[in-house]
Amino acid sequence: MSEVAFFDENEFLGSINYSFPLSKISWLKVGGPVDVLFRPRNLDDLSRFLSRVPVSVQVMPIGACSNLLVRDGGLSGIVIKLGRNFSEIEVKGEQVKLGAANFSPKVAVSLSEQGYDLSFLRTIPGTIGGAIAMNAGCYGKYIGDYVQSIEGVDKAGKYIRVSRKNLEFQYRTCKLPKNFIVTSAVVRPIRTKTDTIKKKMTEMLSKREKTQPIKKATCGSTFKNPDGKSSLMLEEITELKAWRLIDNAGLRGKKIGRAMVSNKHPNFLINMGGATAHDIEALGEHVREAVYEKYKVMLDWEVIRVGRNKLEQNS
Ligand SMILES: Cc1cc2nc3c(=O)[nH]c(=O)nc-3n(C[C@H](O)[C@H](O)[C@H](O)COP(=O)(O)OP(=O)(O)OC[C@H]3O[C@@H](n4cnc5c(N)ncnc54)[C@H](O)[C@@H]3O)c2cc1C
Repeated sequence: MSEVAFFDENEFLGSINYSFPLSKISWLKVGGPVDVLFRPRNLDDLSRFLSRVPVSVQVMPIGACSNLLVRDGGLSGIVIKLGRNFSEIEVKGEQVKLGAANFSPKVAVSLSEQGYDLSFLRTIPGTIGGAIAMNAGCYGKYIGDYVQSIEGVDKAGKYIRVSRKNLEFQYRTCKLPKNFIVTSAVVRPIRTKTDTIKKKMTEMLSKREKTQPIKKATCGSTFKNPDGKSSLMLEEITELKAWRLIDNAGLRGKKIGRAMVSNKHPNFLINMGGATAHDIEALGEHVREAVYEKYKVMLDWEVIRVGRNKLEQNS
């Protein structure tokens, strides 16, 4: 267990909040407090802060919290959230440097004006840092296809640059150095006409709107699409998509507490208002068991679950 750290606030330009309720910034609107939330003003501030963190204290970066389920008992240690000063978008010929705090949809729109196509990011509501950590993607494109290198700091506050080949992007993951905070990335998007990119973004938005509950409190797809690890021949399944397995197991609309399997897209779990993280995780586990029972496929969580349950906190 990580010890709680206290800092001399005068040493840093950024803000420090103790016992900060992560439900306030999480897309799912759930989650207990983190011991310390630090929002650095700039790279030096971040580096200096990290150099003061005791080795035993855990540090975790977050972006928009759109793929995180923080449990109700909260999180030990420190959460780092990058802000405005990590939001550069610098075009240099074929390449673009993107600050990690940039909101991905904003990057897609801004670059489209200059004829750089990262249109798929228009519908992924996280930050560039989170997109890289998750190798976020949709409609056949992944951020990892475009990243040339990243920069960031390790837990001791040391600057590190990592080249594309060492990142080993895979489905919903990549190989970041241990305890690494991405602060920026260099990407190389395809260049094309602004109108073409805008048309693609409009089509993607409209497709999302029709097929996914994007206006609800969710974390997007809850489970990864299985990679054919079934031991059964699933005659009724043409493609091994998580949503299809969940749907065929009869779980559309299933509720636990105030959490619900979306009727619009069964791989999305929704906070109907007033759900706890426990409701959402319990519903997710119920879905996994029911799908396993029927198809002998154990779904893997795509949403990252962190922190402790309430009871663990009190014990
Ligand atoms: C409506 C909806 C639709 C979605 N659709 C898609 C989709 O089509 N495709 C898709 O891939 N995802 C989708 N998602 C999930 C989510 O938006 C993406 O995974 C997104 O890239 C996460 O970014 P974030 O900034 O919110 O990261 P967070 O949720 O805050 O964090 C996710 C992970 O990234 C790490 N991380 C965050 N920032 C950094 C950093 N600076 N340095 C190092 N690690 C960091 C965190 O530690 C954590 O492990 C969707 C979510 C929602 C709510």
